[in-house]
Amino acid sequence: MLNDEGKVLLIRHRNGTWVFPKGHVEPGESKADTAVREVEEEAGVQSVAIDPRQTWQTEYVNPRREGRRITWYLLRTNAREAILREAIFPHGGFYPPEEALTMLAFDEDRGTLKQVLRAARRAGLLPDAATGETA
Ligand code: ATP
Repeated sequence: MLNDEGKVLLIRHRNGTWVFPKGHVEPGESKADTAVREVEEEAGVQSVAIDPRQTWQTEYVNPRREGRRITWYLLRTNAREAILREAIFPHGGFYPPEEALTMLAFDEDRGTLKQVLRAARRAGLLPDAATGETA
């Protein structure tokens, strides 16, 4: 999730880990719709998928020993702040990409963010880090 300032939305689980919003697909819903809905529910942010065909995957095993495969989308918003609604995620907000990379708790998520940032730069959605030019 990127906002119009090029900042990244992260939420902090009550166990202290910083993550991206995500959740389970509901019947009749596309995965891109799930992403948009979960961001709204968990972070109070309205967004749209830039290109629902472009996705990134991560896999991990959660503490209940369940294998998880997550499909990620690049979402855009004009929001500047998160509105936290769920007790399980008491904090969150938009952070500069470099800071977000240091905050994220899981290697898989850092890897995804790096790839998403590259795609966003290519699409002209972020300033080019190498030249400092703005899109
Ligand atoms: P739900 O099943 O409703 O999505 P959940 O919060 O248990 O609920 P999971 O993604 O299944 O969601 O599990 C999250 C837990 O898995 C986190 O508390 C975290 O400690 C652990 N975990 C381990 N590796 C990762 C990772 N790469 N990304 C996210 N969570 C991870």
